[in-house]
Amino acid sequence: MKNNSAFCNFCGATLEEAIRLITGAENVAICNRCILTCYNMISSEKTKKSVEQFTQSGLPEINLPPPSELKKYLDNFVIGQDAAKIALCVAVYNHYKRLYLRDSQVLSVEIDKSNVLFVGPTGSGKTLLAQTLARFLKVPFTIADATVLTEVGYVGEDVDSILVRLYQAADYNVQAAEKGIVFIDELDKIARKSANPSITRDVSGEGVQQGLLKILEGTIAAIPPKGGRKHPEQHLVHINTRNILFVCGGAFERLDKIISKRVNSGGGIGFGAEVVSKNESKIGEILSKCEPEDLIRFGLLPELVGRLPVIVSLDELDEEALLNILTKPQNALVKQYTGLFAIDNIELSFTEGALKAIVKKTIEQKTGARGLRSVMEKILTPYMFKISKHSEQTVLKIDAEIVENTLAKSRKQ
Ligand code: ADP
Repeated sequence: MKNNSAFCNFCGATLEEAIRLITGAENVAICNRCILTCYNMISSEKTKKSVEQFTQSGLPEINLPPPSELKKYLDNFVIGQDAAKIALCVAVYNHYKRLYLRDSQVLSVEIDKSNVLFVGPTGSGKTLLAQTLARFLKVPFTIADATVLTEVGYVGEDVDSILVRLYQAADYNVQAAEKGIVFIDELDKIARKSANPSITRDVSGEGVQQGLLKILEGTIAAIPPKGGRKHPEQHLVHINTRNILFVCGGAFERLDKIISKRVNSGGGIGFGAEVVSKNESKIGEILSKCEPEDLIRFGLLPELVGRLPVIVSLDELDEEALLNILTKPQNALVKQYTGLFAIDNIELSFTEGALKAIVKKTIEQKTGARGLRSVMEKILTPYMFKISKHSEQTVLKIDAEIVENTLAKSRKQ
C-alpha cells in the first residue's frame, strides 16, 4: 500500500482527513486523533488504578461527596449549628482530599492537616457532629475524654491510649486506623491551672497538652495492641498519626469573658474598655469571635493551639432548637420512645404543650440537649413500668399537665 493512499486502521480516516498518519510495520497506520484518544484512555486508566489502590488501602473513595452534601447528611441528625457544620465539612473534605492527593502523587505540594476545635456549651452537639460524620464516611472513630488523661508514667491513661482505642475501632487494621477520626472531649479541662508555669508538675494539665501535641502533629506511636501499660518484650503496634484527623471540643467556660475583654478593649489600654453590649451577650455570638490568643490566655499551650487551625463555635441551643431536636432528627427522642411503646401496643403521643414543658425543664437544667433524655425518662418511666405483656392496643397522650405533675413528683422523691 502506498503511503499517499494510506488510512488510519483505527478510525478509517485518510491522510487528507487526518493531519498526520504514523505508519508501522506492514503499512499499518494510526492517525493523530486516534493517538490522542489512546493517550487519554491510558491516562484515565492510570488515575482509576490509583483510586482503586487508594480505596483498597482503607481510605474512603476519592469521589467523596463535596462539603455541601456532607452537610446535608449532617442536617438529618444535627439541628442548627450551621457554622460548625460548614467548617467541619470543609475541614473533613480537605483532609481526605489531602490524603488522596498525597497517596496518588497527583500534587507535589504537601497540604497541611486541619484539625478542628469546637468551642461551645455542653450538650450543644459537638460530639454528635464528629460522630455522625465519621459514621457517614465509614472511617474508624473514637471519643477520648481529656480529663482522664495524665502524663506518661503517672496514674491514669496516657495519650497513647487514645490510639489504642482508635486501633480497636478500626478492627485492628493499622492502615484504616491511620486514617480515622479522633474526638477529644473536654479539652478545656486540661488547660494550664495558671498563666505562670507551676513549681510542681502539672501532670493532668500541661503534661497532657504536651503529649497531645505530638500525636496531633504526627508521630509514629508504639502502642500495646490490647491497651494497658507497656512492658519490655511486649509486642507493639506502630501507628502513624500524621493522617488522623483530630477534632477537639470543650465548653471553655470563662472563655467568653476573655474574648469580651479583648474585643471591648479593642487592643487599647486603660479603663475605657466598654462591656460587651447587651444584644451581643449570647454566648455563641461571643465565642464566634474566638481567636487563638484567647485560647492561649485560657490556658492552652500556644503550640497546641497552633495545631488546631480550624476553631469553630457552637451556639447555645434555644427553645426552638430543643423542640426541633425532640421531634425532627431521624432518631429524634419522640420517635425513639414512640417506637419503644409501639412494641407493647401502646400508641404514644405528645401534645405541643407537653413538648414545650419538657424543653422548659431541660433549659433549667443547663445541660443542653443532653438533658432532654433524662427529662423524658423521668416522665415516661412510670408508664413503662406499668406496661403489661400482651396488653390491648391503648393510647397514651402526654400533655403539659402530666409533664409538670410527674416532674414535680420525681423532685419530691
Ligand atoms: P457536647 O456538645 O457536650 O459534645 P453532645 O454532642 O454529646 O454534646 O450531645 C449530647 C446529646 O444531645 C446528643 O447525643 C444528642 O442526642 C443531643 N444533641 C445535642 N446537640 C444536638 C443538636 N444540635 N441536634 C440534635 N441533637 C443534639
